[in-house]
Amino acid sequence: MKKIYAREEHCIGCRLCEIHCSAAHSKYPDDLVKAFKKAEVLPVPRVKVEEDIPLSFALQCRHCEEPHCLTACITGAMYRDEKTGAILNDPERCVGCWTCIVVCPYGAIFRDEGVGKVVAKCDLCLEQGEPACVANCPNAALVLKEKGGE
Ligand code: SF4
Ligand code: SF4
Repeated sequence: MKKIYAREEHCIGCRLCEIHCSAAHSKYPDDLVKAFKKAEVLPVPRVKVEEDIPLSFALQCRHCEEPHCLTACITGAMYRDEKTGAILNDPERCVGCWTCIVVCPYGAIFRDEGVGKVVAKCDLCLEQGEPACVANCPNAALVLKEKGGE
C-alpha cells in the first residue's frame, strides 16, 4: 500500500502539514480561512512535526502490517480498510479509553477531546482523495508512495 514518507532533508519545521491536516478534517475541508475562523471545533492534527533543530520531520500513522492499535482496541473501533489497507478509527465505536495511544510505537494517535472523547489518527485523507499534508507541504518534504518507490 502507499504510505506517507517524510524527507527530513526538505522539512523546515513550518508546521503547515499540521495546519492543513486540521482544516482537512474540519467542517470546511476546502477552505483554510473558514476552517480556522468559523469552525466551532477545530480537529487536532493527525500529523506531528518533531523538531530538534536543525532536524525536523513530520510523523503520522505508519499503517502497520501488524498494527498494535487494532489488536489492542477494546471496542473494534480501530480497523483496516480492506480496499486501501489503511488503519482507520470509527469515532462511533471509539469510547476514548486511550489504549491505542499507549500501544502505538510511533506516538501517531492523538486525543481529540474537542470533537469528543475519541482518538484521531491519520486516515490518509481517503475522503478527500489526496493527503492534505502531502499536497500542501511547500517543500515536498512529504511524499505518498509505495515502500521503496520513487
Ligand atoms: S496507529 Fe500506530 S500502531 Fe496503529 S497502525 Fe498506525 S503506527 Fe501502527
Ligand atoms: S494524510 Fe491527511 S490525515 Fe494523514 S497526516 Fe496527512 S493531512 Fe493528516
